[in-house]
Order: sequence, then structure tokens, then C-alpha cells
Amino acid sequence: MPEYKAPLRDIKFVMTELLNSEQHYANLEGAEDATPDMVDAIIGEGAKFCEQVLSPLNQVGDKEGCTWSEDGVKTPTGFKEAYQQYVEGGWPSMTADPNYGGQGLPHSLGLVMSEMVGTANWSFGMYPGLSHGATNTIEEHGTEEQKQTYLTKLISGEWTGTMCLTEPHCGSDLGTLRTKAEPNADGTYAITGTKIFISAGEHDMAENIVHIVLARLPGAPEGTKGISLFIVPKCLPNEDGSSGERNAVSCGSIEHKMGIHGNATCVMNFDGAKGWLIGPENKGLNCMFTFMNTARIGTAIQGLGAAELGFQGSLAYAKERLAMRSLSGPKNPEGIADPIIVHPDVRRMLLTQKAVAEGARALIYLTAQQADVVHSGKTEEERKAADEALGFLTPIAKAFLTEIGYEAANLGMQVFGGHGFISEWGMEQNVRDARIGMIYEGTTGIQALDLLGRKVLMTQGESLKGFTKQVHLFCKENAEDEQLKEFIEPLAAMNKEWGELTTKIGMSAMKNREEVGAASVDYLMYSGYAVFAYLWARMAKVALDKMVEGTTEEMFYNAKIQTARFYFKRMLPRAKGHAESMLAGADSLMDMPEEAFAI
Ligand SMILES: Cc1cc2nc3c(=O)[nH]c(=O)nc-3n(C[C@H](O)[C@H](O)[C@H](O)COP(=O)(O)OP(=O)(O)OC[C@H]3O[C@@H](n4cnc5c(N)ncnc54)[C@H](O)[C@@H]3O)c2cc1C
Repeated sequence: MPEYKAPLRDIKFVMTELLNSEQHYANLEGAEDATPDMVDAIIGEGAKFCEQVLSPLNQVGDKEGCTWSEDGVKTPTGFKEAYQQYVEGGWPSMTADPNYGGQGLPHSLGLVMSEMVGTANWSFGMYPGLSHGATNTIEEHGTEEQKQTYLTKLISGEWTGTMCLTEPHCGSDLGTLRTKAEPNADGTYAITGTKIFISAGEHDMAENIVHIVLARLPGAPEGTKGISLFIVPKCLPNEDGSSGERNAVSCGSIEHKMGIHGNATCVMNFDGAKGWLIGPENKGLNCMFTFMNTARIGTAIQGLGAAELGFQGSLAYAKERLAMRSLSGPKNPEGIADPIIVHPDVRRMLLTQKAVAEGARALIYLTAQQADVVHSGKTEEERKAADEALGFLTPIAKAFLTEIGYEAANLGMQVFGGHGFISEWGMEQNVRDARIGMIYEGTTGIQALDLLGRKVLMTQGESLKGFTKQVHLFCKENAEDEQLKEFIEPLAAMNKEWGELTTKIGMSAMKNREEVGAASVDYLMYSGYAVFAYLWARMAKVALDKMVEGTTEEMFYNAKIQTARFYFKRMLPRAKGHAESMLAGADSLMDMPEEAFAI
């Protein structure tokens, strides 16, 4: 297993040099504590914890997995103790509301920690990740009493949270869910139904688990308009806030699955369990979106983590493994062969992983800054603009990054040749763990429909324009810069094409609605490559400016410029294929009669 090393230099580059986090934090309401020194200290401490405590447990988690018995679910060796240390370090409370024990630090800073935790050990990171989503949901929609009862415990990390949406017959289409919520005389509800695939639904790391559950009230309208949201704790809270008797909710079994073995994926049975309504009746899905949006950005990090971990492992290997000679003559004449890093194709695989990991970091931190402004921006106007940008970027970050992160993890394995397929090196685990990213929290197909249908076409392209305007401005400001020409010219052309493609799809969708579904995944991938082009051009600019200014870190900045060049020349052309494909029309997909699919 590669030993995870937190990429602190690159984290700092993206935060401070690319996204000017110092200024960003100064502009937020209540982020006074996020001074540069404080930020460095937090990230440094977090990095140590992830490298020394979580990374060594990654392979243990995969090998042992979780075990179910009548008494509950046991997590892999070391997970419980690591969680205790995580709690003692105050990590669960980092970004939470100070009124309930949180530290009130900006969300974007919390995401840096999530990146390090998730890359070191994704299965572990999902336990606090789900608590974080439950915390956000109760913070935003809970009553004062619910906040006092549940938030304080979730924020301290004493209790953890879950997100209970999926049922055996429905995942993407929550409109068909059947779990029932019947009113009790005391104002609570009796929740009955089965939820499946519930991450962290049962485990031994915390004394109580707070399930956030979607269910239907009696007589509720059909479909998504009749869904309400409930808090259903595993143990009912006592008057003094401690966890009391067991509620009628239990874990029936856990799934055996391809990856993330250290995280328990549970079948949860609610047998008239006591629950409390959160938010208005029949508006549960709207409230749950708070959770899902947190989780979607959280899942985007999985793509980044997979690329980073694969890159770290395969880079070290490529420098040591000897095989054949460089085509342009020996580079290691003393040895029996050259290290494989001399071969162009191995460099292609390494640079793809590097471009994905660093581009993903830039995209996630940019998205996280929008989340900061939505939460703590000083003016209504700022908050509204950030909310639009966040809505537009979230499906791209979630789906594009998990897709190309998975590709990068595969390349990490490929660099190892046959050894990549062997468990010992951890590369095949990285591939297996990364695969779920494209499925949960809304599959790539569902994210693509959200982007093209809801976010872009339903706003008549406004959310896209909000983003392309920024790109246009950047291109205009740098149009005369000779050094940046190789980035600005293709970026400006693509930015224009992005709008044109959208108009074309919009027009054909007016004639045939299937065109949206037929174009959506290609549209999403195209959008991802376009957003990356913008970010890589900006990163190249920062690096080029630094080189002109003079720096002692020439190697670092040079590598940024080289990686940007690699991205533009060797990855961006893929967008052309997506453009052509998205305009190919729905006929080639829909004309085939269903029966003709038969073998
Ligand atoms: C390990 C793991 C952990 C999970 N954790 C949680 C959790 O904590 N909480 C929770 O509630 N759920 C969880 N899930 C469930 C997960 O979110 C769902 O599996 C996912 O949303 C997909 O739903 P589904 O499996 O029902 O697939 P379906 O909805 O049946 O979809 C099947 C296929 O059809 C496609 N499809 C469906 N509708 C459309 C459409 N309109 N247009 C185009 N394509 C479409 C999908 O993209 C997919 O490819 C988890 C799942 C796994 C495997």
C-alpha cells in the first residue's frame, strides 16, 4: 500500500496562490479565526493524523472488512481507536456552529481535512463524512430542541449520523419510496420500512447513531411531493441528553461488496421506530438536498483522493522499477535497464494522474469557496451568486471527478504492470474503492441530467453563462500575454463552443425531449474538461507569473506549467469527441426496439 503523504505544497498552492484564501476568508462573516497561521497549523496537524493514524489502517480495513452479528457491526481493527483520536483532536467540530459546540471555521477548510482523511483512508472518512451531512441538515432545518439534542452530540463526535434514502426498489427515483411515518399521540412519528445500502448505518465507533430518514406521512401526495424528513436515533435520547433505550431500528445485515470494505453498508429495518419530523411536512426532499449537496461535494473528493493515491504510489514505483531502455538511448547505463519513468507511455499515465489530482483539487476548493460564501457571505447578492455557481459546479465536480478519478486510479495500477493487480501494493484496492464514487450520491447519469436539464436548460442557460462570463473575462484580461497564448486561445474557443453546443441541444430538445437524456453525459464530461481547462490555464498563469517574479521553487512552478501543457495538449482534445457525440442525436440510441436488444 502506498504510504500516504499529504500534498501540503499543492494544497497551499491551490488555497493561497490560485484562490487567494486569505482574502476570501477575510471577506466572510465570522471567519476571523481562519488566519493564515491558524490555517497552516490546522492543515499541518490534520496531515500528521492522516499520514500516521489513518493511512496505515487503509489496507487493514480492506482485508478485514466489517463484521455483522446480532449484537451489531464491528469495524476493522484500529478503526474505533482512530475514531476516538479523531474526536479527541476536535476534528468533527471544525466547521460546525459555535452555538452548539462547533469551531465555526469555514467549510472550505473542513474540505481540505476531508481530502486528507479520504485519501488516507476513504472507508474511515465516510463515518465522519456522513455525520457532517447530518449536522448540516439539522443545523439548517432542525428546531431549537432538535439542535440542542442532536447537534451538540454530532458536533462533539460522540454520536455519528447517516443518510437513509435508498430502498430495495428505489435509489435514483426517490419519488417511489414507501417507508411510512405515522403520527403518534405525543407528536412523534412511528417510522416503518426498510432502507438499504445505508453507509455507516451500524458500527461500534460511537454510542449512538442519528439516522436522517425519508418517509411518507399518511395521505401524502404521490411522488417526490409527498416525502417528509425525520430524525430517527438508534438510542432514544434521555432528558439529560445522554443516549437511552434502544429505538426500534436495527441493522438486518451488511453488504459484501467490491470495495470500501472498512465502511459498513447496512440494511436498516425500521419497525415502528420513534422519529421526529425535521422541516415542513412533504418538503423532506428539499431539506434532504442540504445533506445530498454536502455528500455530493464529499463524493467528488473521492475522485481526487483516488487520483492522488494512485499517483503517489505509481510515481514512486516508476522511478524504481527497471524495464528496457529509453528509445533515445540509456538513461541509467550503470543499471541493467532504465527506470520505467523514462518511457513516454508511462509518463502519459503519470501525468494524467497528476493533472487529474491537481485539477480536481482546484475544482473542489473553488466549489468549497462558493459554499463558504453561501453560508457566510456578507451580502445577499454575494450569497445568491455563490449559490448559483455552487449549484452549477456541484454535479460537474461530483460526476466528472469520480469518472476521471477512477480512470486515474486504473492508470496508477497500470504503471505497476502485473504487480498492480496484486493486493500487496494497494493499487487494486484503490481501483475497487474508487468505483463506487460514480454510483452513490446520484450516478453519473443522474448528475448529468441535473446539470443539463435542471441547472442549464431550465435556467435558459443562465447558470452556464454565470460561469462562462468569468472564463471570458479571464481570457480577455490575458489575451495579450504571449506566454499564456497556448492556454488562452484554446480556452476562449472552447468557452464559446460550450455556449453554442448548449443552444443546439436546447433547440433539438424542444422537438424531442429524449435529446436531453441522450446528450447529458457527454455534455457533463465536456463541461468537466472545460472547467478543468479554465483552472489549468489559471494555474499556469500563477506559475508563469512566479517564474517571472523570481522564485526559489522553480521546479514546483515548472511542473505546474508542464502539467498544464500536458492537460491542454493531451487531455483536452477528448472534449472534441464528447462534443461530436452529444450532437449525434437521440435516434442512434432510441431507434432500436427493446426486443432487438435480446441476444
Ligand atoms: C456502497 C454503497 C453505499 C451507499 N450509501 C448510501 C447511503 O448512505 N444512503 C443511501 O440512501 N443510499 C446509499 N447508497 C445507494 C446509492 O445512492 C444508490 O445505489 C444510487 O443512488 C443508485 O440507485 P439504485 O442503486 O437504485 O440504481 P437505479 O436508480 O435503479 O439506477 C440504475 C441505473 O439506471 C440509471 N438511471 C436511472 N434513472 C435514470 C434516468 N432517469 N435517466 C438516465 N439513467 C437513469 C442509473 O444511472 C443507473 O445506471 C449506497 C450504495 C452503495 C452501493
